[in-house]
Amino acid sequence: MNNVYLLLGSNEGNRMDWFQKAIEQIEACCGMIVKKSSVYETKAWGITTQPDFLNMVIQLETEISPEELLAALINIEISLGRKRDIKWGPRLIDIDILLFNNEVIDTPRLIVPHPFLHLRRFTLAPLAEIAPYYIHPVLHKTIAQLLTVSPDNLEVHLKIGS
Ligand code: ATP
Ligand code: CA
Ligand code: CA
Repeated sequence: MNNVYLLLGSNEGNRMDWFQKAIEQIEACCGMIVKKSSVYETKAWGITTQPDFLNMVIQLETEISPEELLAALINIEISLGRKRDIKWGPRLIDIDILLFNNEVIDTPRLIVPHPFLHLRRFTLAPLAEIAPYYIHPVLHKTIAQLLTVSPDNLEVHLKIGS
């Protein structure tokens, strides 16, 4: 059984609705969601002239491989209507693989741990809520430690409990 952490993000339409639909589809195709963080709201990172984002992290137990999981998640994004146009632009739903067991993967299609995990407060805050003592397999620090030393100072607010 593989232990996986996923980041959900949305800044278009009814953002909570996309999370709900994505969670249903992830459970239908990929495995069992065993933990969910609260939902956090943050100003956009990267391209800052776009609506605020909601983000949350979920913990998934799955039998499928990292590559199969990535393909399934991209299918879910597409089925919910995501169009890929502007890099870091607005999106209905974004689903990233943050951690996959303690695996380190670096292929053209998939990088795990997610390369920006430690640089984004909107990722670290929800991840630290449900996995504070998880050790980053490349940086060898806990998620709580990474949050403390994160250089990102974009404010992240708790939005709604899960
Ligand atoms: P960022 O990766 O900075 O969060 P993004 O989520 O906006 O950016 P996307 O357009 O959603 O980027 O994805 C582009 C590609 O990133 C995907 O097609 C996928 O092949 C690749 N990718 C690499 N590593 C990962 C990962 N850990 N999780 C999800 N996608 C990944
Ligand atoms: Ca992303
Ligand atoms: Ca993505």
